[in-house]
Amino acid sequence: MDNNGFQALQENVRGLIITPGHPNYDASRSVYNGMIDKRPAAVLRVSQVADVIAGVNFARDNGMDLALRGGGHSAPGFGTCDGGLVLDFADRTGVRVDPAAQTARAEAGTTWADFNHATNAFGLATTGGIIGSTGVAGLTLGGGIGYLARKHGLSCDNLISADVVTADGKFLTASATENDDLFWALRGGTGNFGAVTSLEFTLHPVDVVYGGVVIYLLEQVEAVGQLYRDYIATAPEDMGIFLGFHQGPPVPFLPQEHHGKPVVVVVGCWTGPHDEGERQWQQFLDVAPVAGSFVGPIPYPMLNTLFDPMLPKGLQAYWKAEFLPELSDDVIGVARKFGARVPSPQTANHYYPINGAAQRVGQEETAFPYRDANFSVAIAGMWESPEDNAANTRWVRDYHQALRPYGAGGGYVNFLDADDQSSIQDNYGGNYARLARIKAKYDPGNLFHVNQNIKPAA
Ligand SMILES: Cc1cc2nc3c(=O)[nH]c(=O)nc-3n(C[C@H](O)[C@H](O)[C@H](O)COP(=O)(O)OP(=O)(O)OC[C@H]3O[C@@H](n4cnc5c(N)ncnc54)[C@H](O)[C@@H]3O)c2cc1C
Repeated sequence: MDNNGFQALQENVRGLIITPGHPNYDASRSVYNGMIDKRPAAVLRVSQVADVIAGVNFARDNGMDLALRGGGHSAPGFGTCDGGLVLDFADRTGVRVDPAAQTARAEAGTTWADFNHATNAFGLATTGGIIGSTGVAGLTLGGGIGYLARKHGLSCDNLISADVVTADGKFLTASATENDDLFWALRGGTGNFGAVTSLEFTLHPVDVVYGGVVIYLLEQVEAVGQLYRDYIATAPEDMGIFLGFHQGPPVPFLPQEHHGKPVVVVVGCWTGPHDEGERQWQQFLDVAPVAGSFVGPIPYPMLNTLFDPMLPKGLQAYWKAEFLPELSDDVIGVARKFGARVPSPQTANHYYPINGAAQRVGQEETAFPYRDANFSVAIAGMWESPEDNAANTRWVRDYHQALRPYGAGGGYVNFLDADDQSSIQDNYGGNYARLARIKAKYDPGNLFHVNQNIKPAA
């Protein structure tokens, strides 16, 4: 479709339509992953729900690909497409907090930095991502793993309702009491079922937490990994803490001689009384010689934006994921081997705990699968130069292959890449058939296919 074809759509919407030739076209077509170089026919910056309805109808009636962009963080770049229409929610960042009911409704372009800022004014929070620029919509619709997951469940477990424009252009609310099949599918099924315009969450009292990071040289990995494994199995749910492998970051609390060296880290957040938090963290300070640490009282929104400056938009990215039943000595051995060769300062390999409250939700209660897995592993390759793409992608793939024998059979959809489409059924386990049936009901023509795609059941 040429640019003129969008005039009819422009007359129907309040938001700006950006087509090739517009001065902001290149900025508008880009997403977080700098490796993605797609050229949509148009990007619609939606300003109202009416724009979303018009955009969905326009894409469907013209047989166009339709991409939905919340925070734009999808590693495979599902927030854009070639030759199609992008609905970009970036102008829709309002968050309405109801402090008495302890709920918040976020519009679909909200990032976790926006959300945490809004709710922290009332001393409240919900489970969200560990980086502030990640979108609330995409993260929640895929599940949502963060510091508060052990205490309060995944982000999707805190979803009370979502407003959705479905493929036929209808506006629906999905909740436990309305369109409950759609509500089930939205909690893990990603953007397969419609364009979500807002999300309502349960909030919890979380304000200044006791958290931070402890960094050790990689040679301490056995001691640290074993303590972490034993601790997290029964740790108080006030503690959300993950194990990670990085290059030593250039931060003031890590001596310069360790910058760029292979390190093992624990990063976490204690939401209980601070004196008890200090005691809980102490064992991680005592277990092995510490190369650097930054742990103490910190406002929850600050902890969730601490690492943002290291991960700007535009890095090359390639990710893989695995759910793990346990962090065995063999797994720690694999992590040590690949941790010794973390290929860039931005690459992050994290072992997130998903026990506690996240496991008290049944396997079939939401679309998010693998409620019995104890860890969700992200092998998040991120780096600056496209010249390193081949080597760094290989590191991610090799690491993933080495971990597979210890895995539960699938990985978290939000940590997967575009070449994982063939394993989508494995990633949903026993929930896939039900997802495909709900897809057939709400999107029989698979309009919403720019995602980890669930095909409509026949
Ligand atoms: C730096 C970084 C840190 C991360 N940290 C975490 C973390 O701590 N925890 C975690 O669980 N995940 C994390 N992730 C993964 C993250 O959950 C996924 O990348 C997620 O898809 C991002 O959502 P988004 O809205 O930013 O992405 P987008 O690229 O905008 O969208 C991603 C997917 O969501 C769908 N989508 C977006 N908006 C809508 C909408 N309005 N309606 C329907 N579907 C929509 C899209 O179709 C697409 O398939 C991180 C990713 C990055 C890059």
